[in-house]
Amino acid sequence: MKPVIAVVGRPNVGKSTLFNRMTKTRDAIVADFSGLTRDRHYGDGRLGDREFIVVDTGGFEPDSTTGIVKEMAKQTRQAVAEADAVVFVVDVRAGLSAQDHDISRYLRSVNKRVFLAVNKAEGMSESPLLGEFYELGMGEPHPISAAHGQGIRSLLDAVLADFDFGDEDELADDVEDKPIRLAVAGRPNVGKSTLINTWLGEERLVAFDMPGTTRDAITVPFERHGQKFQLIDTAGLRRKGKVFEAIEKFSVVKTLQAIADANVVLLLLDATQGVSEQDAHIAGYVLESGRAVVLAVNKWDAIDDYQRETLERSIAQRLAFLKFAPVLRISAIRRQGLGPVWQSIADAHASAFRKMSTPVLTRLLHEAVEAQAPKRAGAFRPKLRYAHQGGMNPPVIVIHGNSLEHVSSVYKRYLEGRFREHFKLTGTPLRIEMKSSQ
Ligand code: GDP
Ligand code: GDP
Repeated sequence: MKPVIAVVGRPNVGKSTLFNRMTKTRDAIVADFSGLTRDRHYGDGRLGDREFIVVDTGGFEPDSTTGIVKEMAKQTRQAVAEADAVVFVVDVRAGLSAQDHDISRYLRSVNKRVFLAVNKAEGMSESPLLGEFYELGMGEPHPISAAHGQGIRSLLDAVLADFDFGDEDELADDVEDKPIRLAVAGRPNVGKSTLINTWLGEERLVAFDMPGTTRDAITVPFERHGQKFQLIDTAGLRRKGKVFEAIEKFSVVKTLQAIADANVVLLLLDATQGVSEQDAHIAGYVLESGRAVVLAVNKWDAIDDYQRETLERSIAQRLAFLKFAPVLRISAIRRQGLGPVWQSIADAHASAFRKMSTPVLTRLLHEAVEAQAPKRAGAFRPKLRYAHQGGMNPPVIVIHGNSLEHVSSVYKRYLEGRFREHFKLTGTPLRIEMKSSQ
């Protein structure tokens, strides 16, 4: 499981700037989707092949003297409680303040690994000013400059040193024998627990202990029509002896971890509520994570024809960036529409792990270019030479050639469409990377 790192500190020390550094988007395709609401408080980070989740508590900053302050403190405490490590940011230019002392006192009381990042220290890594920060009793200060990208690597090296990153081994051949890791995500009250309890009851699943899980995350292995699944907890699954039951308890961090840990995410929407901001946030995160995704609109039983029409339109608009995902209409309570959900999950999983050989990809690439060549950009005409598969779940197609930085996003989408069609990819994002040799 990816470790979770919380970034805390008083306002204006540079938490958001650091967050942006730590999570610099690794997928240019995401940025091309208009209408994508990004959740700025949670993000994926990566150092080499070590991946982690970053939580920025800066988003909860108070901007007035209302009850927001209290809410912020609560949110920050929750983020810290759920984190595996904390980066405590202070500002070398402003020096230590009473608030910094308050925060450090709090952090000492929670018994987490805390790393002190002294920000705005561009060109000051040897400065005597850093000495002052030992006073906080948070160990050695790490001088960084979030704005200039200095010291971030060594800070992250220190933070990540304690964690065990197993081999990812995603391109393994035995995909078919492996269980589909499935996460059921969605905001509170969409019906996650109801659906899971329905499944658990119906499938009479056999639970067994999974050794080697690093944390208290519960996964429930089960089999359906010969296909093995592993359900990853998001709904607050609780073990009662040999059975599991879903209890209502929503945690954003748990959801993000489960998404990161899954192969396929079943994202539930509530038909009676429409598509909310929070739905779009979770959906945006699923897209960024690269996981396969199936959308299911639950409580379809509870709305009339007119509402159904409105809802379909709103899904098409607000979740346009997930248009590769199948949309199913279900009623967890009435057990309606559940069969197609399983089928879609299996299809999405197969798509996410589709093998695409270099000769076939290269042939498709050449056919696509023949049908429509990329536009010339000034003196440059991009030359697309060959393509190979660079990963699975999500599938990545790496295209090699010259002047590829001039390939437009429109053209990339055109290529994506051709590849998708040929390999019948549904329910998974497809990433296309360009590697220019000049
Ligand atoms: P937050 O309130 O803690 O999230 O802080 P922000 O990330 O919004 O940054 C507050 C201010 O500090 C902004 O004006 C940033 O441009 C500035 N800032 C952030 N990092 C650095 C840095 O490394 N050096 C300098 N000089 N300024 C920085
Ligand atoms: P969770 O917070 O996502 O786990 O949501 P729950 O499973 O606790 O469901 C929230 C509420 O929605 C409960 O009152 C359920 O009875 C109700 N609910 C769940 N599924 C359906 C459904 O298919 N139709 C209708 N009408 N209500 C449902």
